[in-house]
Amino acid sequence: MSSKKRSWAEPYKIKSVELIKMTTLEQRKAALAEAGYNTFLLKSEDVYIDLLTDSGTNAMSDYQWAGMMLGDEAYAGSKNYYNLEKAVQKYYGYKYLVPTHQGRGAENLISRVLIKPGDFVPGNMYFTTTRAHQELAGGTFVDVIIDEAHDPSSLHPFKGNVDLNKLQALIDKVGAKKIPYITIGATVNLAGGQPISLENLRAVRALCLKHGIKVVLDATRAMENAYFIQQREKGYADKSLAEILFETCSYSDAATMSGKKDLLVNIGGFLAVNDWDIFEEARNLVVLFEGLHTYGGLAGRDMEAMARGIEEAIQQDHMQARIGQVEYVGEKLIELGIPIVRPIGGHAVFLDAKAFLPQLKQLEFPAQTLAAELYLESGIRSMERGVVSAGRNKAGEHNMPKLELVRLTFPRRVYTQAHCDVLVESVESLYSRRHEIHGLKMIYEPKYLRFFQARFEPLK
Ligand SMILES: *Cc1c(COP(=O)(O)O)cnc(C)c1O
Repeated sequence: MSSKKRSWAEPYKIKSVELIKMTTLEQRKAALAEAGYNTFLLKSEDVYIDLLTDSGTNAMSDYQWAGMMLGDEAYAGSKNYYNLEKAVQKYYGYKYLVPTHQGRGAENLISRVLIKPGDFVPGNMYFTTTRAHQELAGGTFVDVIIDEAHDPSSLHPFKGNVDLNKLQALIDKVGAKKIPYITIGATVNLAGGQPISLENLRAVRALCLKHGIKVVLDATRAMENAYFIQQREKGYADKSLAEILFETCSYSDAATMSGKKDLLVNIGGFLAVNDWDIFEEARNLVVLFEGLHTYGGLAGRDMEAMARGIEEAIQQDHMQARIGQVEYVGEKLIELGIPIVRPIGGHAVFLDAKAFLPQLKQLEFPAQTLAAELYLESGIRSMERGVVSAGRNKAGEHNMPKLELVRLTFPRRVYTQAHCDVLVESVESLYSRRHEIHGLKMIYEPKYLRFFQARFEPLK
């Protein structure tokens, strides 16, 4: 596409480093066997490049660390709370702020405040903790994302868009009174970090206003979403990320936020709302679940680091490098003919394990196998997103998802371009010996969220 693209080079230099362990193949074999061939069970110190998740794994800046020393650890009315409130009002535009220990704390609050048992909550694809809290509050989640989001080969530029016909059909079927709000993920994590367009969000807002349905933004990666809008949506090329983020939020009534993603911190989140009544109730509830409404389960220093993270994450140079790094790896893999999900998402590259290891049946766990092999190859840790993650249905049968994916997720500001090159070389080397790879057998299966603790054995 763009042959003249400028470099995404890191807009920072390194002042403090964390040493990582280089392991031998023998050491990795032993570590993997001990972990039951499940990358979640590996010890972090046995991992060379850790691409398990981008959640809370970010590197903070000197400016953020300096802010940590300015933590006002008062039980009530910490000045860091007011700094965070100011930053959220300025960049996200909501009136009222309730800090929470991380994103799911905010999801719990908004679900309890707005959902009554028997309600329906549509969304552009589910997210695990979001849906779990909606269900705990007595609601039923309904997926209204466009069909393209479920197709790994579709090149649709905004695979996070809502299908307005699906939303209208739900309104017609259950009635708007049973739909307190729609959740809008931006970007959509489980679709592979795919963005929603502002044109689509405006249309969703208009339809919802007509029916008295609120819009709750999952703003966890809304800054990354803003970058995609700037790059892809007509009329936004000359707008700043701050302007786009502000406009995105203006089409919603509230936002839940996991600061562990966009905001360059290791812990933290918030609920932000415009409606005083919702704020008042959430502020009441947070005392039960998180802590007083001016700290919400966070230390003052954590709130300061997050306030400062907002200012840094919204910078063009930062976001260009952040997403540029993910695209750098994705484009190299595409050039090598290695099957990945497209378009390349904001926070991760997904290897298509079914296409990578076509000789494996789905119950020989192609994605689990590929993640294990990648670790053996070079000590790189990734995550399975396939039949193991999908779990079993109510009848006790395996859910058989269409996709068997291995997620390579990029922590922000942590790894260098040379690490990226090692990653690409490792995947390439695996790909060249893919025919020699055998599958796995599950030998221990926990009852809930089995992917975290399941154990496997090689078939051969
Ligand atoms: C991580 C995440 C959450 C939950 O946030 P936590 O901080 O992990 O509790 C919610 N939504 C999305 C899209 C996420 O990626």
